[in-house]
Amino acid sequence: MKIPFLQPNPSRLSQLGAELAQIEDSGVFSNYGPVNTRFERGLTDALFDGVGGCVTVCNATIGLMLAIRHGVDAMADRSARGRAEAGRRRYALMPSFTFAATAHAAIWCGLTPLLCDIDPDTWLPCREAEDALLEQYAGQIAVIVPYATFGNCLDMERYDRISEEQGIAVVVDAASSLGSLDVLGRGFGTGSRHSVVFSMHATKTFAVAEGGVIYNADPDALAAIRAMGNFGFTEPRVARLPGLNSKLGEVTALQALAKLAEFPSVVEHRIALAEQYARALPGWTLQKMVGRRHAHQFMPMLVPASYPGTRAGFLDELRHHGVGAATYFSPHLVEQPYFRDTCVAGDLRVTERIASRIVALPMSDALTCEHVRLICTLLRELAPLAPPTWVAADMLATVAALSAGD
Ligand SMILES: *Cc1c(COP(=O)(O)O)cnc(C)c1O
Repeated sequence: MKIPFLQPNPSRLSQLGAELAQIEDSGVFSNYGPVNTRFERGLTDALFDGVGGCVTVCNATIGLMLAIRHGVDAMADRSARGRAEAGRRRYALMPSFTFAATAHAAIWCGLTPLLCDIDPDTWLPCREAEDALLEQYAGQIAVIVPYATFGNCLDMERYDRISEEQGIAVVVDAASSLGSLDVLGRGFGTGSRHSVVFSMHATKTFAVAEGGVIYNADPDALAAIRAMGNFGFTEPRVARLPGLNSKLGEVTALQALAKLAEFPSVVEHRIALAEQYARALPGWTLQKMVGRRHAHQFMPMLVPASYPGTRAGFLDELRHHGVGAATYFSPHLVEQPYFRDTCVAGDLRVTERIASRIVALPMSDALTCEHVRLICTLLRELAPLAPPTWVAADMLATVAALSAGD
């Protein structure tokens, strides 16, 4: 068996010769060009019911930086109270169970990540943990950056409420959520007036190369973010906003446009694989999913307590049998030296338990249900959950022998 963990599958530029020639002939290679505009509109129509809009970015990490800076500034500018409180608000509330990028983005914005625990079933940020930190750090939190864990869907109304009541900005790290549908069957994030940031990295389900998208249903927010991503220019070469350069080139936009066309079948295929995993691993702890459909970047699960060895041993066994696997997100943030030194952490008991046992299993456009069947057979051999049948037979024999001796 030789099954890689991920097999990045961006659309093939080599088959887009005519479109590439068009870009070359147009002389427009970046600066929110025509291909980029077609992609932004197409994505909004296909994934967000045409509600709101998107701005592309060169990657989701820069997208998070932009969105956090924009969200925090906009909240401070909203009222006299906002302006007065801005100086005290220096924390970015986020889970420790996320990718390094979430924390890095907040730190680049001059904020200190305040790390909360996750829910034991959905692995989304834990409500009680967030509420406890919101209370403990009242008036000091500038932004909440919940992570939509592995494409799972967050309760966006809850964050709207917190934002409204407590004057806190919200930016959603939805890096692996393009293609996930919420409980109402809408693309995750649809209608949100807080920025929702998606990644199009080659390893994500919406595989491009480097790239990302900021979604927001508020056209003013989107216009400001677009300007901030182009040096803060609100008119040619006049900076009126904090700026950087986060633009996506036309060639990458072309790849994104091609991925959009094939995306429904990519998501369908991965859902079939995830269902196959779930069917073949009864009793194993998989992520509890919220929402109608998920874009499955990979297949996370917990090493069963019945496995006699360590997680490292479990991964070695998988490798030995030719199955690629990974440990997203272990180490979680506060286990990494840079974040230990720069972040503040709340109680992380659930995060520690989940992170220490998590293993991400293979998922890709090229993976087949037969591959999944083979992987699951191997897993069940490594860590049998129910007592093997010979134990039951043995016990029956013992009982029989005891009865006979009466
Ligand atoms: C992939 C990922 C990112 C970063 O996305 P890039 O486009 O690679 O910058 C951020 N957050 C999470 C949770 C991710 O999984």
